[in-house]
Order: sequence, then structure tokens, then C-alpha cells
Amino acid sequence: MPTKAKNPHLPLGDHKTAPWYGKDILSIKQFSRADLEYIIRVAHEMRIMVERIGTFDLLKGKILANLFYEPSTRTSSSFMAAMERLGGAVIPINEVKYSSVAKGESLPDTVRTLGCYADVIVLRHPDVGAAALAAKYAGKPVINAGDGVGEHPTQALLDAFTIREELGRLDNLTVTMLGDLKYGRTVHSLARLLTQFIGIKLNYISPDILPMPKDVMDEVAQKGLPQNEYSTLDKVLPETDVLYVTRVQKERFDDHAVYEKVKSAFVITPEVMKSAKKEMIVMHPLPRVTEISMEFDEDPRAAYFRQMEYGLYVRMALLAMVLGKA
Ligand code: ASP
Repeated sequence: MPTKAKNPHLPLGDHKTAPWYGKDILSIKQFSRADLEYIIRVAHEMRIMVERIGTFDLLKGKILANLFYEPSTRTSSSFMAAMERLGGAVIPINEVKYSSVAKGESLPDTVRTLGCYADVIVLRHPDVGAAALAAKYAGKPVINAGDGVGEHPTQALLDAFTIREELGRLDNLTVTMLGDLKYGRTVHSLARLLTQFIGIKLNYISPDILPMPKDVMDEVAQKGLPQNEYSTLDKVLPETDVLYVTRVQKERFDDHAVYEKVKSAFVITPEVMKSAKKEMIVMHPLPRVTEISMEFDEDPRAAYFRQMEYGLYVRMALLAMVLGKA
């Protein structure tokens, strides 16, 4: 469910009753199943519009501040593309070292500032809870684009959209998550999102030192979803509908030698995939390092490049929603 509303003063012509108008998007826990289905519908419409006409004026006159304290290729550029395809404009702050952050400005002051110039703020930050903190001070809706090892809700939404577009359903699926489940924020959000659906079975496979965090597993257990941890893929691959692969998150390791030891623990190759179903998909939030070999890219089950395109449509839907146009 949406949290508090910002922007109480709507210009004429906007939809005062739009449920997500002026809301922050901080965690995947805010979304009910009905919300998720709504976003998927809007994203699907965005896809059709982009395919038909490319760019249109739904958010003409609106401004997005894209504030990234951590590296990003897809999230940052897809939010920019989303805003521009909807006719809006973007203030891009990808290199905080060139902004007043380098002079010691606090996050609350930085977002307060951007809230004066923009209608919505997208924030990526290395600290868990940074988006929630920013939302307190921004005066405009804040969208969490990744808060350290915490959550990445817009990625989970685009992951759900990918599964729906590719497999036609979000119920009755065996989803196997592979890789760095400890530091990979995308799997934390996706596991939580999948608790809204029925007939979901979750398998987790990771190096011993990088398991799915207990708090996420507890939440999944509370919702009654079966979940199991394995040390190898072979047992569960044949039953898997969605294989969700993540990179080992190098930037979260204090000891580089430990990273080196585990970084290539699992590698998906055409050979490995021989025992998988024909009708299944392999996803990855990207960037990929070594965990999926490039030889697999041509396989129709390799959905990760389509997945990043779906991100554009979902982010268009989210911007339209929080700006009262969907
Ligand atoms: N791009 C994703 C993220 O920001 C996944 C990753 O970096 O591995 O969390």
C-alpha cells in the first residue's frame, strides 16, 4: 500500500484520486498483489505506446532528479529514458563528487535542494535506509533505486513484469535464485515480492558465506512459501521455471581475497543448461561478470537482455503513477 502523499496541490487536469500520486517508493513491501498487477498493466501499456509512437507527452513539464551515489548503468539510464519518453526532463547527478556532496553536504540537505527543482527524485545510495531518510526531507516523492544491501524495489517490479511477459504468469512457479544472495539486494526484493503470489517455490543456491539473509527468509516463511537452500544447482535445475542469477557483489567485500575465492563459484553455460526445461527463463539484474557465459546469450531462454528493456516500461509506469498520471 502507498505511504504518505506529497504534493498536496495538484495542477488542474491531474488525477487527484490516483492512488500512487505523490507517494514514495521505498520498499517492495508497500505493494499488494493488486498493486503489482496494476503496475504490470500500466507497464504493458507503456510498452505498446513506446513500440507504436516512441515518445509522448504524458509528463510534459515534469522534472526528475536522478541522484546516484553508487555506480549504475541500467537503472540510471532507464529512469532518464523513461522520463524523456514521457516528455519530461531530467537533472542527472551521477557523479556526486561534482556536486555539493563533495563539500560535505548531508543527504537530507541534498534532497531538500533537489525537491525545490524537481517533481520526483530517484535515489541510489550505499546505505540501507537512505531512501527512507531522503523521503523524510525531500518534499517530493522519492523512488529507491537501490539502498546498499537493502532493497531494489523497482528492479523487483521489472523482474515481475519480465516473468509475466515471458512466461505469462506469476503464480505456480519454481524460482531458483543463484549467486550472492547475501549482498544482492535485487533478490531480497524479488523474494519478498513473490510472496504475493500463489504456488511459488523458492530455491536458494549460494556460496556458504553468501546465503539469503535470515530476515528475508523469515518473511517468506511467514507467508507460507516453501523455500530451500542448496549448495549445487543440479538437483533443482530440471524443475526450475525462473533461474535468477546474480553477480558476487565485489564492492561489499572488505577482504578482496575472500571475493576472489567465491566470485566464480557458479557459472551458467550451455552445457549446464542442458538439464533445464525448454520453457523456462534465465534472468540476471546485470551487470554480469563471469556467472553466465556469453555462449549462453543466444539461447532463447536467456531473458536478461529483454529484462533490461522491460525496465524502461516499468519505470515509465512508476513515474507516471507517482506524478498522478496513471
Ligand atoms: N544492478 C543491480 C543492483 O544495482 C545488480 C548488481 O549490481 O549486481 O543491485
